[in-house]
Amino acid sequence: MKIIVPLSGGKDSQASLLWAIEKYGVENIESVFCDTKWESKITYNHINYLVDKSEVKFTSLVSSKYDGMVDMAVKKGRFPSSQSRFCTVELKVKPMIDYVLSQTENLIIVQGIRADESSERSKMEEVCRYFKYYFQPYQTNSMIVEKYSNMKTLSLVQKNKLSKAKLRLEQGKEDPKFHTYRKKDVFEWCKKYDDTIQRPFFNATGDEVIYYSLNRGFDINPMYFKGFSRVGCYPCVMCKQSEIDLIIKNDEKRINEIRENEALANSTFFKPDTVPPRYRIKKEGVKKKITPIDSVVKYSKDRHATEDMFEDTDDFQCKSVYNICE
Ligand code: SF4
Repeated sequence: MKIIVPLSGGKDSQASLLWAIEKYGVENIESVFCDTKWESKITYNHINYLVDKSEVKFTSLVSSKYDGMVDMAVKKGRFPSSQSRFCTVELKVKPMIDYVLSQTENLIIVQGIRADESSERSKMEEVCRYFKYYFQPYQTNSMIVEKYSNMKTLSLVQKNKLSKAKLRLEQGKEDPKFHTYRKKDVFEWCKKYDDTIQRPFFNATGDEVIYYSLNRGFDINPMYFKGFSRVGCYPCVMCKQSEIDLIIKNDEKRINEIRENEALANSTFFKPDTVPPRYRIKKEGVKKKITPIDSVVKYSKDRHATEDMFEDTDDFQCKSVYNICE
């Protein structure tokens, strides 16, 4: 049996790795990182630190179709967005499934997922199967109705989805949806091997996972001390305005890289509504105004134009959103 720990460089997967090492022994573990080639240098360095210090076996996976985020944006002619998150599927989910299917023994996959991260995650379980949604639906019309009926505001797309689901239910149809990527291979693989998932920190808080690492002598990713509440793609298409502001304020090199990559992909990384309409620009041949990185930078700087007057104590404040200061 092999123990696999997917690593992201974040506090939750790090604590899960240390938990797995204590429970199963480092010699039985392989840590696996899905590289989007869009992470912060600090995160790459932290993963190297963690792997070296723990002496765990390490495998880095890259999509077989796209050589990371920029290559994918160039080939698709656009960056992903919060509404169209093909990055997760192409750069993380598929490479990981390919990797799992290449294994020829029973697996336990130890994931650093916590219930309090989001309402979606709170519905997950502490122990389940990696290929669960090949065997049971991840979505039915009843699930859509339950989810959207409890939400205060719905986008137009969500409203349409909800009314379609209600109509189909009236017709007695559930329309169950299953995962399908390499379905035949998954069914064959599951006849021979186990695909158990364990989430040892499912009920833990953010602070608890941080102290789990610190108490064992392991530093956490320095990105947290810079004020980021999450690590991973830098930036992520889902990131908050405050995280964009942090990059703009502290990492001009990254802003320049984003600008260069937008030119390469002939697409903007941010959605038009990241900034108010007056900051969006007209592009020849494009009907809707767009929001390149320079518009995001200008908006951020204008919003914070008066803040510098109050920043003389900044260096003495812990910028972490967690209670890391002793
Ligand atoms: S972290 Fe964000 S940008 Fe990166 S793959 Fe996931 S959703 Fe996409």
